[in-house]
Amino acid sequence: MLSEFDLIRRYFTGRQRARATLGIGDDCALLTPAPGRQLAISTDMLVEDRHFFAGEDPRRLGHKSLAVNLSDLAAMGATPRAFTLALALPHADAAWLEAFAAGLFALADAHDCELIGGDTTKGPLTICISVFGELAPGTALRRAAAEVGDDIYISGTLGDARLALAGYRGELALSPADLADAAARMHLPTPRVALGQALAGLAHAALDISDGLVGDLGHILQASQVGATLDVDALPAGPVLARQPQALRRQFTAAGGDDYELCFTAAPAARAAIAAAAASSATPVTRVGRIEAAPGLRWTDASGAALALELAGFDHFR
Ligand code: ADP
Ligand code: MG
Repeated sequence: MLSEFDLIRRYFTGRQRARATLGIGDDCALLTPAPGRQLAISTDMLVEDRHFFAGEDPRRLGHKSLAVNLSDLAAMGATPRAFTLALALPHADAAWLEAFAAGLFALADAHDCELIGGDTTKGPLTICISVFGELAPGTALRRAAAEVGDDIYISGTLGDARLALAGYRGELALSPADLADAAARMHLPTPRVALGQALAGLAHAALDISDGLVGDLGHILQASQVGATLDVDALPAGPVLARQPQALRRQFTAAGGDDYELCFTAAPAARAAIAAAAASSATPVTRVGRIEAAPGLRWTDASGAALALELAGFDHFR
């Protein structure tokens, strides 16, 4: 039987190049930001049966637990540095831990992000990660920074995770290949870290879309005290969702959830610079609407005609 300390040593210690001033093993880790840089800090928790199904593949879970946190750093324009991992496990299962750590460290290493500490306890499966990133003071992409006249952009595609959920629930008949395509986006989201860094100091407001575009863009509108008009048919959909009926495509792209794409605003004068940021980070971005002075969110279709859409984001307590 693995002790708590064996478990930490075996699966979480010494697997990466040390970069922090002091990593795992003492009462605290020590992290020294580069001179003149600011720390960006975020925490996200994943709870079994709430954020993922019981029996979820541990390798994918290791990836996703860190991915949702890196996505928050990306949305702020920060460069990942380090993270901590608090883990509640029902039991110490060696095969599960090995696979979880493999998924976790593959993504961590891809972003040069070092595990510097954490906590381990017995309990219902819960994964809580805090990430630490760096950015130049004054360049953070704040939710309150949208300006009237800004363009609104989305990275990548929206609605794939919601499409996979519909497939799993049997709300929709998807071919095995189509379900696998959508499910990959649900289980292995891509945090848009390189794009976020390229947008720091260039874009105005940004956030990552975790609870559906409608709800999350609402946070920008509220914080910035502005409104917006979006072209629902401009919302980028992946190939499988693009083949679905229009009403479903609109619903899932606008209010799907679990997308982990960036929504950001920028001045129309910055269009060429935004295109260059998208190209340099190899991340597609799509312009989908405009920030306006009148509060609230309005919709048009592809022809520009006003559209009344009843869409709502996801709320854990509703
Ligand atoms: P404490 O008694 O201060 O809570 P612990 O005994 O829980 O410390 O942890 C010992 C060391 O191992 C600490 O440096 C802690 O950050 C690290 N640690 C514990 N659990 C994990 C984990 N799941 N991943 C990485 N580091 C961990
Ligand atoms: Mg502890």
